[in-house]
Amino acid sequence: MKIKICFRNIGVVLCLGLVMLALSSIAAPQLNDSGLAISHEARALQPGEVVLLTVRSSAPIQSVQGKAFGKDVFFFPDGEATLWRGLIGIDLGASPKNYPVQLAITRLDGKNLQAHYDLVVKDKSFPTRRITVQEQYVNPPAEELERIQREDKKVAAIFATVSPERQWAGNFLRPVPGEATSSFGVRSILNGQPRSPHSGTDFRGEAGTPVKAPNTGKVVLADNLYFSGNVVILDHGWGMYSYFAHLSRFIVSEGDSVTPGQIIGYVGATGRVTAPHLHWSLRLAGARVDPLSLLAVFSDTHGN
Ligand SMILES: [Zn+2]
Repeated sequence: MKIKICFRNIGVVLCLGLVMLALSSIAAPQLNDSGLAISHEARALQPGEVVLLTVRSSAPIQSVQGKAFGKDVFFFPDGEATLWRGLIGIDLGASPKNYPVQLAITRLDGKNLQAHYDLVVKDKSFPTRRITVQEQYVNPPAEELERIQREDKKVAAIFATVSPERQWAGNFLRPVPGEATSSFGVRSILNGQPRSPHSGTDFRGEAGTPVKAPNTGKVVLADNLYFSGNVVILDHGWGMYSYFAHLSRFIVSEGDSVTPGQIIGYVGATGRVTAPHLHWSLRLAGARVDPLSLLAVFSDTHGN
Protein backbone atom coordinates (compact mmCIF):
# COMPACT_ATOMS: atom_id res chain seq x y z
CA MET A 1 0.00 0.00 0.00
CA LYS A 2 1.48 3.34 -0.98
CA ILE A 3 0.66 6.45 0.93
CA LYS A 4 1.38 8.81 -1.90
CA ILE A 5 0.45 8.89 -5.54
CA CYS A 6 3.34 10.27 -7.56
CA PHE A 7 3.47 11.53 -11.12
CA ARG A 8 6.81 11.45 -12.86
CA ASN A 9 7.18 14.12 -15.48
CA ILE A 10 10.36 15.34 -17.21
CA GLY A 11 12.50 14.18 -14.30
CA VAL A 12 10.43 16.02 -11.74
CA VAL A 13 8.66 13.99 -9.10
CA LEU A 14 5.54 15.68 -7.90
CA CYS A 15 3.93 13.99 -4.95
CA LEU A 16 0.38 14.70 -3.99
CA GLY A 17 1.38 13.61 -0.52
CA LEU A 18 3.94 16.37 -0.29
CA VAL A 19 1.44 18.95 -1.45
CA MET A 20 -0.91 17.74 1.26
CA LEU A 21 1.93 17.99 3.79
CA ALA A 22 2.65 21.56 2.79
CA LEU A 23 -0.97 22.30 3.61
CA SER A 24 -0.83 20.28 6.79
CA SER A 25 0.64 23.16 8.73
CA ILE A 26 -2.72 24.85 8.25
CA ALA A 27 -5.05 21.84 8.55
CA ALA A 28 -4.53 18.42 10.12
CA PRO A 29 -3.18 15.93 7.55
CA GLN A 30 -5.91 14.03 5.83
CA LEU A 31 -6.25 10.34 6.47
CA ASN A 32 -5.81 8.11 3.45
CA ASP A 33 -7.94 5.07 2.58
CA SER A 34 -6.23 3.02 5.30
CA GLY A 35 -6.98 5.65 7.89
CA LEU A 36 -3.34 6.78 8.07
CA ALA A 37 -1.65 10.15 7.73
CA ILE A 38 2.12 10.42 7.83
CA SER A 39 3.96 13.70 8.16
CA HIS A 40 7.32 15.03 9.21
CA GLU A 41 8.86 17.94 11.06
CA ALA A 42 12.43 19.04 10.42
CA ARG A 43 14.45 22.21 9.97
CA ALA A 44 15.17 20.92 6.48
CA LEU A 45 15.50 17.61 4.64
CA GLN A 46 19.24 17.89 4.20
CA PRO A 47 22.38 16.05 5.30
CA GLY A 48 22.93 16.27 9.07
CA GLU A 49 19.29 16.95 9.97
CA VAL A 50 17.03 15.18 12.48
CA VAL A 51 13.54 14.34 11.20
CA LEU A 52 10.56 13.72 13.46
CA LEU A 53 8.11 11.41 11.70
CA THR A 54 4.48 11.32 12.84
CA VAL A 55 2.01 8.53 12.06
CA ARG A 56 -1.65 9.31 12.74
CA SER A 57 -4.29 6.65 12.48
CA SER A 58 -8.08 6.57 12.58
CA ALA A 59 -7.86 3.50 14.86
CA PRO A 60 -5.57 2.88 17.86
CA ILE A 61 -2.13 1.48 16.99
CA GLN A 62 -0.31 -1.27 18.86
CA SER A 63 3.08 -0.89 17.19
CA VAL A 64 4.90 0.93 14.40
CA GLN A 65 8.11 -0.44 12.98
CA GLY A 66 10.16 1.64 10.61
CA LYS A 67 13.20 1.24 8.40
CA ALA A 68 15.17 4.14 6.95
CA PHE A 69 18.70 4.31 5.57
CA GLY A 70 18.92 0.55 6.19
CA LYS A 71 18.43 1.04 9.96
CA ASP A 72 15.52 0.48 12.34
CA VAL A 73 13.40 3.49 13.22
CA PHE A 74 11.77 3.23 16.65
CA PHE A 75 8.31 4.65 17.26
CA PHE A 76 6.47 5.51 20.47
CA PRO A 77 2.86 6.57 21.17
CA ASP A 78 2.85 10.29 21.88
CA GLY A 79 0.10 10.75 24.43
CA GLU A 80 -2.53 8.81 22.49
CA ALA A 81 -2.67 5.44 20.77
CA THR A 82 -3.57 6.99 17.41
CA LEU A 83 -0.47 9.24 17.32
CA TRP A 84 2.99 7.67 17.05
CA ARG A 85 6.32 9.34 16.55
CA GLY A 86 9.83 8.30 15.55
CA LEU A 87 13.16 10.04 14.97
CA ILE A 88 15.32 9.63 11.89
CA GLY A 89 18.80 11.05 11.31
CA ILE A 90 20.02 12.04 7.84
CA ASP A 91 23.76 11.46 7.92
CA LEU A 92 26.11 14.35 7.23
CA GLY A 93 27.45 12.43 4.23
CA ALA A 94 24.06 11.48 2.68
CA SER A 95 23.80 12.22 -1.05
CA PRO A 96 20.79 14.18 -2.26
CA LYS A 97 18.03 11.78 -3.37
CA ASN A 98 14.81 10.17 -2.25
CA TYR A 99 15.13 7.87 0.76
CA PRO A 100 11.86 5.98 1.34
CA VAL A 101 10.96 5.16 4.94
CA GLN A 102 9.23 1.77 5.17
CA LEU A 103 6.59 1.43 7.85
CA ALA A 104 4.83 -1.63 9.26
CA ILE A 105 1.88 -0.66 11.42
CA THR A 106 -0.11 -3.02 13.60
CA ARG A 107 -3.41 -1.71 14.89
CA LEU A 108 -4.95 -2.76 18.17
CA ASP A 109 -7.74 -4.46 16.23
CA GLY A 110 -5.07 -6.74 14.73
CA LYS A 111 -5.01 -5.16 11.28
CA ASN A 112 -1.54 -4.88 9.70
CA LEU A 113 -0.77 -1.98 7.39
CA GLN A 114 2.28 -1.28 5.25
CA ALA A 115 3.17 2.24 4.26
CA HIS A 116 6.05 4.27 2.97
CA TYR A 117 7.04 7.87 3.29
CA ASP A 118 9.47 9.66 0.99
CA LEU A 119 12.29 11.68 2.50
CA VAL A 120 13.51 13.74 -0.44
CA VAL A 121 16.92 14.88 0.76
CA LYS A 122 18.27 18.03 -0.85
CA ASP A 123 21.90 18.97 -1.32
CA LYS A 124 23.74 21.09 1.22
CA SER A 125 27.15 22.63 0.86
CA PHE A 126 29.20 23.11 3.99
CA PRO A 127 31.88 25.78 4.31
CA THR A 128 35.59 25.18 4.74
CA ARG A 129 37.62 26.65 7.59
CA ARG A 130 41.35 26.91 8.10
CA ILE A 131 42.64 26.48 11.62
CA THR A 132 46.06 26.35 13.14
CA VAL A 133 46.48 23.94 16.03
CA GLN A 134 49.43 22.41 17.81
CA GLU A 135 51.37 20.18 15.41
CA GLN A 136 50.89 17.12 17.65
CA TYR A 137 47.16 17.22 16.81
CA VAL A 138 47.76 17.25 13.04
CA ASN A 139 50.57 14.75 12.84
CA PRO A 140 50.46 12.83 16.13
CA PRO A 141 53.72 11.33 17.32
CA ALA A 142 54.18 7.64 16.40
CA GLU A 143 53.92 6.51 20.03
CA GLU A 144 50.37 7.91 20.24
CA LEU A 145 49.03 6.12 17.13
CA GLU A 146 48.10 2.94 18.96
CA ARG A 147 46.20 4.93 21.59
CA ILE A 148 44.35 6.92 18.90
CA GLN A 149 43.32 3.73 17.06
CA ARG A 150 42.16 2.09 20.29
CA GLU A 151 40.04 5.14 21.18
CA ASP A 152 38.55 5.35 17.68
CA LYS A 153 37.52 1.69 17.87
CA LYS A 154 36.02 2.08 21.33
CA VAL A 155 33.92 5.09 20.32
CA ALA A 156 32.84 3.43 17.04
CA ALA A 157 31.70 0.34 18.98
CA ILE A 158 29.63 2.53 21.33
CA PHE A 159 27.92 4.34 18.43
CA ALA A 160 27.20 1.01 16.70
CA THR A 161 25.29 -0.28 19.75
CA VAL A 162 21.53 0.26 19.85
CA SER A 163 20.15 0.12 23.40
CA PRO A 164 16.65 -1.36 23.32
CA GLU A 165 15.13 1.07 25.85
CA ARG A 166 14.36 4.72 25.09
CA GLN A 167 15.83 6.92 27.82
CA TRP A 168 15.04 10.34 26.37
CA ALA A 169 11.60 11.91 26.61
CA GLY A 170 10.12 15.34 26.12
CA ASN A 171 12.17 18.37 25.22
CA PHE A 172 15.94 18.47 24.86
CA LEU A 173 17.88 21.14 26.75
CA ARG A 174 20.83 23.20 25.63
CA PRO A 175 23.87 21.86 27.47
CA VAL A 176 25.31 25.36 27.94
CA PRO A 177 23.64 28.78 27.65
CA GLY A 178 26.29 29.98 25.17
CA GLU A 179 25.48 30.60 21.55
CA ALA A 180 26.26 27.88 18.99
CA THR A 181 28.73 28.70 16.25
CA SER A 182 27.66 27.49 12.80
CA SER A 183 30.27 24.78 12.80
CA PHE A 184 28.42 21.56 11.98
CA GLY A 185 29.64 19.88 8.80
CA VAL A 186 32.45 22.37 8.23
CA ARG A 187 35.40 20.94 6.31
CA SER A 188 38.46 21.76 8.35
CA ILE A 189 41.93 22.37 7.01
CA LEU A 190 44.29 21.99 9.94
CA ASN A 191 47.70 23.54 9.48
CA GLY A 192 47.12 23.26 5.72
CA GLN A 193 45.97 19.60 5.77
CA PRO A 194 42.34 18.63 4.97
CA ARG A 195 40.52 16.66 7.67
CA SER A 196 37.14 14.87 7.84
CA PRO A 197 34.12 17.18 8.29
CA HIS A 198 33.25 18.51 11.74
CA SER A 199 30.53 16.15 12.95
CA GLY A 200 29.41 18.20 15.95
CA THR A 201 28.31 21.67 16.94
CA ASP A 202 30.50 23.97 19.00
CA PHE A 203 28.97 26.18 21.68
CA ARG A 204 30.61 29.25 23.16
CA GLY A 205 31.39 29.00 26.84
CA GLU A 206 33.97 30.23 29.30
CA ALA A 207 36.18 27.56 30.82
CA GLY A 208 34.42 26.21 33.89
CA THR A 209 30.85 26.73 32.60
CA PRO A 210 28.72 23.76 33.75
CA VAL A 211 27.69 21.33 30.99
CA LYS A 212 24.21 19.88 31.50
CA ALA A 213 22.76 16.64 30.19
CA PRO A 214 20.29 17.54 27.40
CA ASN A 215 18.03 14.64 28.34
CA THR A 216 18.00 11.40 30.31
CA GLY A 217 20.85 9.05 29.49
CA LYS A 218 23.43 6.61 30.68
CA VAL A 219 27.12 7.50 30.83
CA VAL A 220 28.83 4.99 28.54
CA LEU A 221 32.19 6.76 28.37
CA ALA A 222 33.87 9.28 30.68
CA ASP A 223 37.53 9.38 29.72
CA ASN A 224 40.38 11.40 28.31
CA LEU A 225 40.82 10.90 24.55
CA TYR A 226 43.78 12.09 22.47
CA PHE A 227 41.96 14.45 20.07
CA SER A 228 38.78 15.22 22.02
CA GLY A 229 40.31 15.68 25.47
CA ASN A 230 37.97 14.95 28.36
CA VAL A 231 34.87 13.33 26.89
CA VAL A 232 31.51 12.19 28.21
CA ILE A 233 29.25 10.05 26.00
CA LEU A 234 25.60 9.69 27.00
CA ASP A 235 23.48 6.84 25.65
CA HIS A 236 19.94 8.21 25.31
CA GLY A 237 18.67 4.83 24.08
CA TRP A 238 17.34 3.63 20.71
CA GLY A 239 20.65 4.46 19.04
CA MET A 240 20.88 8.11 20.13
CA TYR A 241 24.16 9.29 21.65
CA SER A 242 25.46 12.66 22.86
CA TYR A 243 29.24 13.14 22.76
CA PHE A 244 30.64 16.07 24.73
CA ALA A 245 34.30 16.97 24.18
CA HIS A 246 37.10 19.24 25.41
CA LEU A 247 35.72 19.35 28.98
CA SER A 248 38.04 20.76 31.65
CA ARG A 249 36.80 17.84 33.75
CA PHE A 250 33.82 15.52 34.10
CA ILE A 251 31.96 14.67 37.30
CA VAL A 252 30.14 11.53 36.18
CA SER A 253 31.38 7.97 35.81
CA GLU A 254 30.70 5.22 33.31
CA GLY A 255 27.51 3.41 34.30
CA ASP A 256 25.89 6.49 35.90
CA SER A 257 22.37 7.45 34.88
CA VAL A 258 21.81 11.17 34.38
CA THR A 259 18.64 13.22 34.37
CA PRO A 260 17.86 16.20 32.10
CA GLY A 261 19.77 19.27 33.28
CA GLN A 262 22.15 17.32 35.51
CA ILE A 263 25.70 18.70 35.43
CA ILE A 264 28.05 16.17 33.83
CA GLY A 265 31.21 18.29 33.60
CA TYR A 266 32.62 21.72 32.78
CA VAL A 267 33.64 23.53 29.61
CA GLY A 268 37.36 23.37 28.94
CA ALA A 269 40.06 23.35 26.29
CA THR A 270 41.42 19.81 26.49
CA GLY A 271 42.49 17.99 23.30
CA ARG A 272 42.66 19.53 19.84
CA VAL A 273 41.21 23.03 20.34
CA THR A 274 42.11 26.64 19.77
CA ALA A 275 40.13 28.01 22.75
CA PRO A 276 37.69 26.81 25.44
CA HIS A 277 34.29 25.78 24.05
CA LEU A 278 31.84 22.90 24.25
CA HIS A 279 31.72 20.40 21.39
CA TRP A 280 28.48 18.39 21.19
CA SER A 281 28.15 15.60 18.63
CA LEU A 282 24.90 13.72 18.21
CA ARG A 283 24.47 10.27 16.65
CA LEU A 284 21.18 8.77 15.67
CA ALA A 285 21.29 5.15 14.42
CA GLY A 286 24.89 5.87 13.40
CA ALA A 287 23.99 9.03 11.48
CA ARG A 288 26.03 12.14 12.26
CA VAL A 289 23.44 14.85 12.87
CA ASP A 290 23.48 18.46 14.07
CA PRO A 291 22.31 18.72 17.70
CA LEU A 292 20.70 22.06 16.79
CA SER A 293 18.38 20.21 14.39
CA LEU A 294 17.25 18.04 17.31
CA LEU A 295 16.65 21.13 19.47
CA ALA A 296 14.64 22.58 16.59
CA VAL A 297 12.13 19.71 16.60
CA PHE A 298 12.15 19.29 20.39
CA SER A 299 12.18 22.93 21.46
CA ASP A 300 14.35 23.79 24.43
CA THR A 301 12.42 26.91 25.32
CA HIS A 302 10.99 25.25 28.42
CA GLY A 303 14.36 23.90 29.53
CA ASN A 304 17.28 25.30 31.48
ZN1 LIG B 1 33.98 20.85 17.75
